[in-house]
Amino acid sequence: MSLFNQIIRFAGLMSCVFGSLVVSDLACAAEVRPPQFVMFSFDGSKSMPVWQETRAFAKTNPVKFTYFVSGTYMLTQAHKGLYHGPHHKVGASDIGFGGDSDEMMARVNEINSAYSEGNEIGSHANGHYDGSTWSESDWADELRQFSNLLFNTFTNNSLQASANFAAHFLFNLSEIAGFRAPLLGVSVGLWPALKQSGYSYDTSRTADPKVWPRKLDGLWSFPIACLRIAGTGKRTLSMDYNFYYAQSGAKPDPAHSALYEQQMYDTYMEYFRSNYNGNRAPVHLADHFSLWNGGAYWHAMQRVAKAVCGLPEVRCVNYSELVKFMESQPTQILAEYQQGRFPRAVAFNFESKSGPALDVVSQVAASGANVQATLSGRDAGQLIADLQNGSAQGLWKVGDQVIAEGTQVTAQDAARALRSAPEQGLSFVIHKDGQEILRTDGDLQIGLANSGQDENAIMSFQERQDPALIPDPVEAHEDGEL
Ligand SMILES: [Zn+2]
Repeated sequence: MSLFNQIIRFAGLMSCVFGSLVVSDLACAAEVRPPQFVMFSFDGSKSMPVWQETRAFAKTNPVKFTYFVSGTYMLTQAHKGLYHGPHHKVGASDIGFGGDSDEMMARVNEINSAYSEGNEIGSHANGHYDGSTWSESDWADELRQFSNLLFNTFTNNSLQASANFAAHFLFNLSEIAGFRAPLLGVSVGLWPALKQSGYSYDTSRTADPKVWPRKLDGLWSFPIACLRIAGTGKRTLSMDYNFYYAQSGAKPDPAHSALYEQQMYDTYMEYFRSNYNGNRAPVHLADHFSLWNGGAYWHAMQRVAKAVCGLPEVRCVNYSELVKFMESQPTQILAEYQQGRFPRAVAFNFESKSGPALDVVSQVAASGANVQATLSGRDAGQLIADLQNGSAQGLWKVGDQVIAEGTQVTAQDAARALRSAPEQGLSFVIHKDGQEILRTDGDLQIGLANSGQDENAIMSFQERQDPALIPDPVEAHEDGEL
C-alpha cells in the first residue's frame, strides 16, 4: 500500500469513527473494517486418511489449513535413536514415531501436496513433551531437532527417490514460521528460542476469544480461545480434545455423536458471530487428526467452515496469511483495530445467509449521561423506521439480561449492570419478527467496568487442574474411533 493510500485510508478511518457519531457512508465503513480472519489448524498430523480427507476439504472449500507437524512422525521406528528430547531418553517419544519407510514416504507426499495446495506447515515440536519447565537452550535444542527431523527425513530414514516419491520438500526451513507447544506447555525460554530459530508466530497461549493478536516476546501471539460449550455452560478451549473431555469424559460415546457435534458447532458459530459482529478479533479453531465420538468434532469443524468461509469480509486462511495482514497494517490502523474502534458490520441470518447483510453499521458512543446507538448504512433508514413504528425493538443487554429498551441507555444503568456482571459486556441488540437481526460488540465497556480478562494469558496453574481445560494431552494424538 502506498503512503498516499495509507494517509487516505487513515483519514477515512478518522472521519468514520471520530468525525461524527453517524457513519454516513457504506464505502467508508467497508474500507476501514478489518476482515474477519478464521484459522483452522491441526496438531500432530500423523494419520494418512486424515491428511487426505482434510486436504480434500480444503481443496473444495474456501479455506486453508495450518498443520503443526510433530517431528517424531518424520522418523521411522528403526531410526528413533536419532531423536533425543530434552531431559528424556534417547529414542523416546510420548507419541511414538512415524511408522515404516512406506508410511514415511506417503506422509512426505501428503505434506508436499498440502503445501502446494496453499496450506501451511508449522511445528508441534517432536516427542510431545511438556516444556513448561524447559530453559531457552532446551527449547533451542528441541527446535533444532525439529528442523533436522523434518528436512533431513530422507537421509535420516534412508529414503530413496523414486517415480512416486520426490525425496525432497517443496518448501524450505524459512517457511516454517509457526509453532504450537505440545500440551500448550510453555516457559519463558520458548519465545526467545522460537525467535532465534526464525519463527514469526506462536499459537500456544490461551486467551479470551476477543483478544486481538499482539507481538509478545518478539513473535505474533495467536492464542487459542477459552469458551463455554453452548447449551451446557461447561468451560472448554477452542480445541477438539477439550470438547471430547468435557462432553464424554474423554471416553468414546459415539451414540451421542450428533449432540456433541451440534454443541461444538453452536459454540464455534457463537464465537464466530460474536467476533464478526464485534471487534473482529481473529477466530482460532484447533483440531487434532483424531476422530473421537464418531468424528463429531471434525464434522463440526467442516460445518463451521462451510457456514462462514465465503461470507463477506471473512478470510479462512493459514496463519502466515494472518501474519502478512498484521504486518501490512499501518501502526495507527492496527491500534484502532486492536481497540475495536471501527464501524461495526452487521450480518444476519448466518444460517440462511439472508437479512440486511453488511449494509447497516451500528455505532455506540457514550456522551455525558447516556449511551447512544446510531445506525447508518444502506438499510439503516428502514431499520430506524421499524424501530420508530414498533415493528423492530432495540434492546440494551448485559449478557442475556435486558437493561433498557430503545436506542439509548443511561450510563448509570449501564455501569450498574456491568458491575453486577463483570464477566459480561454491554450490547445493543435489535430484534425483528422474533429474531435478533443486529448486535453491537458484546465487549463494550464504556470505561465504566473492566472485564478483568488477562489478554493473551498463559493458562494458569489452577486452570490446568480443570480436566476439561487440559490442553492437547498425549491422548489427543491417538487416532480415536472412526
Ligand atoms: Zn499435541
